[in-house]
Amino acid sequence: MVKVAKFGGSSLADGERIRHACELVRSDPDRRFMVVSAPGKRGNDDEKITDLLYHLSEQKESGADYSGTLKRISNRFESIVQDLGITFDLDREFDLIRDRLKDASAAWIVSRGEYLCGKITAAFLDWPFVDAAHLIRFRPDGSLEESLTYANARRVLEDYECAVIPGFYGSGPNGKIMVFTRGGSDVTGSIIARAVDADLYENWTDVSGIMSADPRIIDDPRQIRWISYRELRELSYMGASVLHEDAVFPLKTTGIPSRVCNTMDPENEGTHIVGKYPVDLVNHPVTGIAGKCGFSNLQIEMAMMNSQVGFGARILEIIAKHGISYEHTPTSIDIMSVIADTPSMMQHRNEILQEIDREYHPDRMFIQDGMALVAVVGEGISTNVGVAAKVLASIAEAGINVRMIDAGCSELNIIIGVNESDYEKTIRALYEGLYEYL
Ligand code: ASP
Repeated sequence: MVKVAKFGGSSLADGERIRHACELVRSDPDRRFMVVSAPGKRGNDDEKITDLLYHLSEQKESGADYSGTLKRISNRFESIVQDLGITFDLDREFDLIRDRLKDASAAWIVSRGEYLCGKITAAFLDWPFVDAAHLIRFRPDGSLEESLTYANARRVLEDYECAVIPGFYGSGPNGKIMVFTRGGSDVTGSIIARAVDADLYENWTDVSGIMSADPRIIDDPRQIRWISYRELRELSYMGASVLHEDAVFPLKTTGIPSRVCNTMDPENEGTHIVGKYPVDLVNHPVTGIAGKCGFSNLQIEMAMMNSQVGFGARILEIIAKHGISYEHTPTSIDIMSVIADTPSMMQHRNEILQEIDREYHPDRMFIQDGMALVAVVGEGISTNVGVAAKVLASIAEAGINVRMIDAGCSELNIIIGVNESDYEKTIRALYEGLYEYL
């Protein structure tokens, strides 16, 4: 059995937390590969090492004095090394960083948080440190060079019984350091899990798994015990942030299960993320509720629209031409709606309306902003009678006006569009109304 355990910044924020994370790793011999983030915040008014590094990089670019920021970073690492009571030549590391800073790229600078945290953690565990620059390969455009990455990582890690690997970065074709987007250590973890063909990818964080609704809106929402990768993708897309979006793909395609768990509450099972549900849970109706504000609705009304071959395709072509990615296209016989995020729609609003008007002279056409989308997600929606009825009844009982309903044939989710002002009320109404299904 091989487990890859990734620890987030809040679980590695100081020496004590790193020690605790290492104890968790040591407590299970199957945890053979540890992927680390850079130290995060120790409390609300603290700073993340990566944020400090981004700040330093900006200071350097603008020619400002960055010595104070560098000092804050080195002080943090110094206290970590001291707390851990290890012999680690931090002076040498910071001398090297100082030497290279002048010509260093922003990516190299911001990757140093994970790099140093990995080296220190490896020294504490007395495990080998394997630099992610030798494992993860990016294309010049910043996308992952998958085949090279998996081939590299497999070949290199084959020789290791165990290792600590820094998250967030890798290297480009010229050997230069490149980074994922923020929170990207999750992606490194899932890539490593796939490369070593892990039996489980553990994502250790500071919350007990994934919640069935946003805790900022619902007090103490129910924790999700099991979720499929498909459901997770829907929920994350709709605003439930737990794992980096790109972390799902390497695991989903191979079916490697993962678990989101809490370093502060390791006995809690957390949330299991699986390709397929265990048989006894297959019919579980609803897994979670999530949503976001900031959508606009382009509505076109035209008599006999339904008989015009190619009308829908042409409207979407116009939308696409302006680089807008749409979310939903609910239609009725003579009305077509295209829902997309407001900032994209805003940018090209007049051109889009003029273009459609020129080609079709619709009877009525407008773009209405201020829409929020709320998704009720569950693989079991398709097999349970009455979920959709309950969704609409819960919203109606709360006196909320529904502006759009979209339930794809996959029946993995039911999406409701409401006014932004009703957003939180809708989440509350759905959570209460669907509580028995969650
Ligand atoms: N340290 C990076 C960040 O703060 C990557 C990570 O923590 O996953 O975004």
